[in-house]
Amino acid sequence: MLNVESQVAGPFAVNSLIVWCERTRQAAIFDAPGETETLIERIAARGLHPVCLVNTHGHCDHILANREVKEHFGIPLLIHPLDRPMLTDPARNLSLYLGESVLSPDADGTLADGDTLTVGEGELVVKHVPGHSPGSLVFYHPGFIISGDTLFAGGIGRTDFPDSCERDLLEAIRVKLYTLPGETVVYPGHGPTTTIREERQSNPFVRA
Ligand SMILES: [Zn+2]
Ligand SMILES: [Zn+2]
Repeated sequence: MLNVESQVAGPFAVNSLIVWCERTRQAAIFDAPGETETLIERIAARGLHPVCLVNTHGHCDHILANREVKEHFGIPLLIHPLDRPMLTDPARNLSLYLGESVLSPDADGTLADGDTLTVGEGELVVKHVPGHSPGSLVFYHPGFIISGDTLFAGGIGRTDFPDSCERDLLEAIRVKLYTLPGETVVYPGHGPTTTIREERQSNPFVRA
């Protein structure tokens, strides 16, 4: 049984997510949007032991504080291979267009469709959902999903970026997300939580 906690953080208002195993206290950190001191306090307050930092995708708002988080906890950084080049390329992670130069350490490992990510005694199933970015990932554990910038409450990820593809995004949502149990709680990269049932019924961008 895994728990999840979401808290908005950083200049781009990204949801900083922690998933942990109740019994072993092992934790996975999803995305690194900044305000790392607050993340460190959240981890300490619950007595957790982070085992990895996972990027849902390679856009600058989600990888901004990768170095801080990775170095503070001494944990490996994981991402899908297709978004890996974004970590060290300010044009591809889009920071260049914001007048910044976000650089992350390179990944220590990669995650692909169908992999499982083990956190203590629990497991998350890795799903590759290209569209918002080529290597976007979502993570499913019975009861919840971490949806990155793929699916939001009443919205979907932007597809007007150079590496985006709207057709792929819509198909990934229909085939890989809308087929999950309706009661599955969706923890997106931005904005409030929702459920698969709610989005299947009322998301204006993609219907079941
Ligand atoms: Zn994004
Ligand atoms: Zn984002």
